[in-house]
Amino acid sequence: MSGVNEIRSTFLDTFAKAGHAVLPSSSLVPKNDPTLMFTNAGMVQFKNVFTGVEKRPYSKATTAQKCVRAGGKHNDLDNVGYTARHLTFFEMLGNFSFGDYFKAEAIELAWNLITKEFALSPENLLVTVYADDDEAAGLWRRIAGFPDGKIIRIGTSDNFWQMGDTGPCGPCSEIFIDRGPGFAGGPPGSPDEDGDRFLEFWNLVFMQYDQVAPGDRRPLPRPSIDTGMGLERMASILQGVPTIYETDLFRSLIEAAAHALGRGPQADNAASYKVVADHLRSTAFLIADGVLPSNEGRGYVLRRIMRRAMRHLELLGTREPVMYRLVPTLVAEMGRSYPELMRAESLIAETLRLEETRFRRTLERGLAILDAESRDLGPGQNLSGETAFTLYDTYGFPLDLTQDALKNRGIGVDTDAFDAAMERQRQAARAAWSGSGEAATETVWYAIRERVGATEFLGYETETAEGIV
Ligand code: ATP
Ligand code: MG
Ligand code: MG
Ligand code: MG
Repeated sequence: MSGVNEIRSTFLDTFAKAGHAVLPSSSLVPKNDPTLMFTNAGMVQFKNVFTGVEKRPYSKATTAQKCVRAGGKHNDLDNVGYTARHLTFFEMLGNFSFGDYFKAEAIELAWNLITKEFALSPENLLVTVYADDDEAAGLWRRIAGFPDGKIIRIGTSDNFWQMGDTGPCGPCSEIFIDRGPGFAGGPPGSPDEDGDRFLEFWNLVFMQYDQVAPGDRRPLPRPSIDTGMGLERMASILQGVPTIYETDLFRSLIEAAAHALGRGPQADNAASYKVVADHLRSTAFLIADGVLPSNEGRGYVLRRIMRRAMRHLELLGTREPVMYRLVPTLVAEMGRSYPELMRAESLIAETLRLEETRFRRTLERGLAILDAESRDLGPGQNLSGETAFTLYDTYGFPLDLTQDALKNRGIGVDTDAFDAAMERQRQAARAAWSGSGEAATETVWYAIRERVGATEFLGYETETAEGIV
């Protein structure tokens, strides 16, 4: 059986043998890139190398990159705990060619790795290519021996990768495994493609163009390669388990949580354990990279993740801070691969304990209000935006926590009214500020938010560089 640590080193060693420089993961906080909330793909640290702005002493590289997708365009927060394949924090294994090899070698390297090193059987594999990419389709026919039925052509943005409005871009080819009729769902491109049967695990991007300006796309002088394989997804495949959460690492985390709570996971609370395990990882890695919970920007995304986990722990019946007690298990599992976790261990535990203690004071009261106000609501109905705003403003409930709490019952939130209440408070704060000599912290904060824009504050929709691979 292949544990995550073994899979990671097999990937890196294979590409090292093929002449790739093995480089460390970059920070979750992208350097000099205010357009991106968090590093969300392996290519982020190489953006300028692809465009030729930056030169490196190697033309091929391989990494295991820490990624967080919990804000901006690639937001998987709402999927976590509910789909078999999404995490907010995950590791993306990648190989990169900066004007060195291109499509044929990229496909060959990928095919050899998955069928030889990882020994996946070719019958269960299939791929997608961009609709008009005859070259990639031809290569898959030749290298993998696939019939046309296993080379699915997709004409949407799913198979054309773009860094943003401008920058390097190109068609991509995704590799899927068919896990058989025991799982629900159809092949990529079909109406029920979001089921669990066909699992995407690797994306090969053929960097071919530079989008100089909207409507002006030119061929790159040196076509490049950017790939991303989800480590945890590969672990679920190699370990033969139906979801990411049943892999070795997640089993340890979930067991540690069950132990700390003095009870075991049951079918009806499984999602809560999954959310706690995932959110523990994103929290710990974000703190290790210097993000601390706050009311704005990246810190607010972190706070939202922490508080969501705390509500799920409350659902599991705890009245005491628990998250901080799980940190040693995470460090034992991942600290050797990511020494920053070991260095930050006490900061992570202490930050969690403080946040848990503080939020606990309002969590129970807020949940009681949420219960009372949603008691008469049914599927398809909305909680009032005023209530959601009170929960946000007085009880510290991020909007997405409230939405997550109502999701199981099919109840939504009137977000227009929530936004309107937020806007009214902002107006009132502004009026109060212009009238008084000394500004309270809150009003200064609202003024700053006005300048930097509300999206910075909420951490939504600010990304232009998408960093999808
Ligand atoms: P999906 O369609 O399943 O949401 P994606 O197309 O958004 O995945 P890519 O942007 O192509 O994913 O990222 C490359 C690889 O990273 C994916 O093939 C997958 O193996 C992995 N990956 C992407 N998002 C996640 C996630 N939220 N959790 C775990 N692994 C992920
Ligand atoms: Mg996705
Ligand atoms: Mg996809
Ligand atoms: Mg993809």
